[in-house]
Amino acid sequence: MASKTKLLLIGIDGLMLQRAIDSGRAKTLAHLRGNSFFSEMIVDLPTVSGPSWTTLLTGVTQSTHCVIDNDFKEHKLASAPDFLTLATRKFPEIKTFAAAGWPPLIDPNDIGPVIATRAEDQQSGKHSIFVRDGETNGYESVDVEVAHATVREIHESGPDLSFVYFCGADEAGHQYGTVEGKYFDAIERIDLLVEALQQVVRNRCDKFQEKWLIVITTDHGHRDEGGHGGDSSQERASFLIAHGIGREHPSWPANIKPEELVGQILATI
Ligand SMILES: [Zn+2]
Repeated sequence: MASKTKLLLIGIDGLMLQRAIDSGRAKTLAHLRGNSFFSEMIVDLPTVSGPSWTTLLTGVTQSTHCVIDNDFKEHKLASAPDFLTLATRKFPEIKTFAAAGWPPLIDPNDIGPVIATRAEDQQSGKHSIFVRDGETNGYESVDVEVAHATVREIHESGPDLSFVYFCGADEAGHQYGTVEGKYFDAIERIDLLVEALQQVVRNRCDKFQEKWLIVITTDHGHRDEGGHGGDSSQERASFLIAHGIGREHPSWPANIKPEELVGQILATI
C-alpha cells in the first residue's frame, strides 16, 4: 500500500531560525515560515545534538533512549527505534531514505547510529542511506553532497519517508559565533539546498500528482559567541515547519514537544 502523503524531514543543526530570517539570507526558510504550519518548540536539556536529535527522530525522551551527550555511551537505541523504522512497522511496503554527514546519526560503523541501518531492507530496496563524514571533511562540501544525493533519490524514486540533515550552520556558529558573518553565509548555503529540495518535490507533485509534506526543524540554538548545551532560551529555541505540497499544510498542535514529532509524522503518512 502506498502512503497517503510522502514526507521529507529536513534537519538543520544549530539553526536560529528567526535570526536567519531577520538576516535576509534565508529566503526559502522565510517563505516557508510564513506559509506553512509553524510552531515554536523548546528542546530538552542538555541542548546538545546527540540527545536532541535522538529525541526528535525516535519520539521518546532521554529517559528511554539514554543518549545524554555526543558520546552515545550506554545508549538504548535498540529500544528507541527511529521514525523510519517505526513507519515500516506500520506500513511494511513503504520505501525510506536517509542522508546525513554527522556519523552518529547514520553511519553503520560509528557510535549509534540513531537511524537504524536495516541491512536487509537495504538489500531488498526498501531502504537506502547516503553516509558522509562532515566531522572529517567539513560540512560546507558535505552538506552539498548530502543535498544532491537526496534530490537525486527523490527525483528517481520518490521515497515515502526521508530524512536529510545539514550541519554547516552549526559548524560555522561554533567557529565564528552567530551574530554576523560566516554563520549567515552557511545559512544562505543551506537555504539554497532547501530550495532545491522543495523544487524537486514540486516537480514530483506536478508530474505524478503526489501529496508531499516537507518538515523542517533544528536540535538547538546557539549563544551569540557560538556554542550551546546550556539552558538559555536562546539555546533551547527550536521550531517546526510543516509545508504541504499537493495537499494542505497539516494542523498539528501548537507548542508541540520534540518527542511528539514522530507521532505526528506517523499519523500523517
Ligand atoms: Zn546540534
